[in-house]
Amino acid sequence: MQLTHKIALCPTLEQADYFARACGTARRVWNWALDAWNKQYAAGQKPNAMALKKQFNALKYNDPQWHDENGQPWLKTIHRDAHAQPFAHLARAWSRFFTEIKAGARRAPDDKRLCRSLRKQGVKLAYPPTFKKKGRCFDSFYVANDKFSISDHSIRLPKIGNVALTESLRFDGKILGATVSRTAERWFVAVQVEVTDAAFQRPRTGHGVSGVDLGIKAAATLSSGETIESPKPLKAALRRLKIRGRRVSRKVESAKVAAGFAPHARLPKGTRLAVSNNRKKSSATLARQYARIAHIRADFIHKLTTRLCRENQAVVIEDLHVKGMLANEKLARAISDVGFGMFRSQMEYKAKRYDTRWVIADRWYPSSRLCSVCDWKNEALTLKDREWVCPQCGMPHDRDLNAALNLKRLATVTALPVASPSSNGGATAERGSAVAGEVTPVRYECGQQDTSGQEKNRAHLHALS
Ligand SMILES: [Zn+2]
Repeated sequence: MQLTHKIALCPTLEQADYFARACGTARRVWNWALDAWNKQYAAGQKPNAMALKKQFNALKYNDPQWHDENGQPWLKTIHRDAHAQPFAHLARAWSRFFTEIKAGARRAPDDKRLCRSLRKQGVKLAYPPTFKKKGRCFDSFYVANDKFSISDHSIRLPKIGNVALTESLRFDGKILGATVSRTAERWFVAVQVEVTDAAFQRPRTGHGVSGVDLGIKAAATLSSGETIESPKPLKAALRRLKIRGRRVSRKVESAKVAAGFAPHARLPKGTRLAVSNNRKKSSATLARQYARIAHIRADFIHKLTTRLCRENQAVVIEDLHVKGMLANEKLARAISDVGFGMFRSQMEYKAKRYDTRWVIADRWYPSSRLCSVCDWKNEALTLKDREWVCPQCGMPHDRDLNAALNLKRLATVTALPVASPSSNGGATAERGSAVAGEVTPVRYECGQQDTSGQEKNRAHLHALS
């Protein structure tokens, strides 16, 4: 199994300068390769990343386009991995694009507004790779595994030597490669490690079955009745974000006025405003705030997903059709605050890690509408109704808890509509035998709460599935 550990770096000024130049190189080479690809494609040829790389290698030290002001090939000052890897990345980007097209997606039009309205209509779009823009793109470059070495709190990188790490590498195994990247003026290295299955697996501490309703009021409602709120620092950080955003936009507005435009005027395309030092500083502060929010979210979701996988032998969550809901402007903010997309991708590998069965309930399964006691369907339920009483059995329901209970039943009761096993490589799909909707072997349901040895639990699950 592959795991990645992302560690913050403490580079010296010279090292940070090298990082910035290496990122710039990777970006420029990507743009060159994409441009060449597009030209060949337009000319009716079949572009190929390896052939493009050969072409590039033939010209990179000779073409004056790649020479500095002294006529020297500046690519020689940057380690070659930084200018070789963009070709592999480009090949992967195109292959992903064509796979999506083959799966029925439509090529996204250039007009962003048109894209948005198409997505709202539920059209699946495939986005071709785009050019990277300085200051706007994610800055990163690659280093192959034989070009660097890691010791306790430092990494030795080509051309610049030892760079201090804020922590030591967490995983033991074969190192596959590393990517250095920048977020809000801080540098990070993500080290990919191939670990053995034994090192990858983690013992589970419980073997419950949990239905999880991811929501807006509470970030998650568990079928045990527990609600998990989204983290409080997030709210404070969002307020700070607004303030810092205003500070930047005030500086943009005054730059507009200084350039002779009316305040709040829409600028003609391609206009470049002067960027003052104060604007740079406040933009950097804003970027740090965004990064902080992203970190708080990631931390919260990591803890939640680890807990769900660690304590349960089966977890059922709902396919919220996140993208469709994001199209609903009112819900969009609340949902992206919780980070559902991240939730899903983390569940994917952690379920394998803890050997937890993980099921995504079908998008059309009415988890909120069904009464979790008698199965009566409340057709009149709207998003606003937080609580309702079942007219058939008289049971009062909390909307989220009722949904969580219904999701849990999906894992344990056959009579309910069949849920789809997670389609994208979740633990369920891998094991093959586990078709969701079948009765899950659940000790908990038989009243045998036993939290003893993990190995025993696992054997039990395998024996019955
Ligand atoms: Zn009922």
